[in-house]
Amino acid sequence: MGVQYIYPEYEIVRNQERCIVCRVCERQCANEAHEYLKDSNKMVSDDAKCVNCHRCVALCPTRALKIVKSPHTFKENSNWSGKAINEIYKQAESGGVLLSSMGNPENYPVYFDKILLNASQVTNPSIDPLREPMETRVFLGAKPEKIERDEKGRLIRNLPPQIQLSMPIMFSAMSYGSISYNAHESLARAAAELGILYNTGEGGLHEDFYKYGKHTIVQVASGRFGVHKAYLNSGAAIEIKMGQGAKPGIGGHLPGEKIGRDISRTRMIPEGTDAISPAPHHDIYSIEDLRQLVYSLKEATNYEKPVIVKIAAVHNVAAIASGIARSGADMIAIDGFRGGTGAAPTRIRDHVGLPIELALASVDKRLRDEGIRNRVSIIVGGSIRSSADVVKAVALGADAVYIGTAALIALGCHLCRSCHTGKCNWGIATQREDLVKRLNPNIGYKRLVNLLTAWQHEIKEMMGGMGINSIEALKGNRLMLRGVGLNEKELEILGIKHAGE
Ligand code: SF4
Ligand code: SF4
Repeated sequence: MGVQYIYPEYEIVRNQERCIVCRVCERQCANEAHEYLKDSNKMVSDDAKCVNCHRCVALCPTRALKIVKSPHTFKENSNWSGKAINEIYKQAESGGVLLSSMGNPENYPVYFDKILLNASQVTNPSIDPLREPMETRVFLGAKPEKIERDEKGRLIRNLPPQIQLSMPIMFSAMSYGSISYNAHESLARAAAELGILYNTGEGGLHEDFYKYGKHTIVQVASGRFGVHKAYLNSGAAIEIKMGQGAKPGIGGHLPGEKIGRDISRTRMIPEGTDAISPAPHHDIYSIEDLRQLVYSLKEATNYEKPVIVKIAAVHNVAAIASGIARSGADMIAIDGFRGGTGAAPTRIRDHVGLPIELALASVDKRLRDEGIRNRVSIIVGGSIRSSADVVKAVALGADAVYIGTAALIALGCHLCRSCHTGKCNWGIATQREDLVKRLNPNIGYKRLVNLLTAWQHEIKEMMGGMGINSIEALKGNRLMLRGVGLNEKELEILGIKHAGE
């Protein structure tokens, strides 16, 4: 072993007394971390290959396996962490950009965890959601400036196209290519059953999924993969992707080895070629250019589909959102810096962007100050982990949220953060046929339905506790929020008081 040797991050611990040498772990591990030794009739492990995905742990019939974090340590100090040293060794060896997947894991503040919800006590009584109606439906899209009535006093309902959701939650954009066919099928079927929407991401729409169109957001990204008239008309809404929280300011890259026959047909690119999404849209250099694309898409769909513009949360997000609201878009989706990804350069993922809580609060405030909040709905994503995060996001001004990583965890993802290798042992972020089969969409969609059914119950309970009986009454209701351990500036941006006030 020389300077290139890096001690493994995880160790596979096998209880030899329990192991019956069934070789399940060997068959299940796409990283080949387990090996059968014929001579000694024993299983051995190569810790260096383990990504800590827990597939072997979950399927070992005798519970003989566990994965532990290696106790091996560098002589660290508060400036040079073991991670920083390891990364230098890797780059000195490879000369390449470090790649990672899933969202930013660094120790920045999670504002959702520093915000507490209110509950009614004596006055303004709480509502029991089991006995009284509780409205979790939301309608996304531009709303009129004011209520108008005709000469007979009837309400004029001349609304631009709207999306109706049974709860303020949707599945965020994940392309066919970055995730498997079975993962897409699970998301599409769950969205249809729940009365919400899922999002194609930038990979086009597989022909088998056109039947879920009413529950589909079709995305148009800089690579324009799989975009054609039938595709645009097949969904309930169109999303222009300008940016993504995990990699603001850069494009995407799906390597050629992941572009098999089905994906090449769906994306409309040759089999085996790299799918490279450029960093910018080559026809958008201003809000006026964006406006042209918004209206081109509306024109192509007979003005029947609302258009979402998705951006990454970056430093001047409120000003950008103001421009988007004036571009004719019906919704703005903002993706925070903890948002997941199938692959991103580590430095970009971990050091660029903004926490979604601050971005959301500043966008909502700016649009209200400018009197244009009604022109767009705001959707936020970037690590919504629970129903409490959903309630806090709505109270900070969101109309709805996108969940991505939480949905994948429901499908079996163990957050091993190795999606970029294409060897997802849980059949999610992979195109390898033997691995894709491991995710059964009949089970997957049911687990997604269970997750969001549970969240919907919890949302109703939290709203009832506050004495609020509709999402509409919760939206932007910052009186329901208090900060803990936040400084004056943070409270000011979030637009909330400190706990105790
Ligand atoms: S799956 Fe469990 S019992 Fe089977 S070989 Fe591996 S460690 Fe042994
Ligand atoms: S999707 Fe698969 S590869 Fe990606 S983090 Fe989850 S388990 Fe790991």
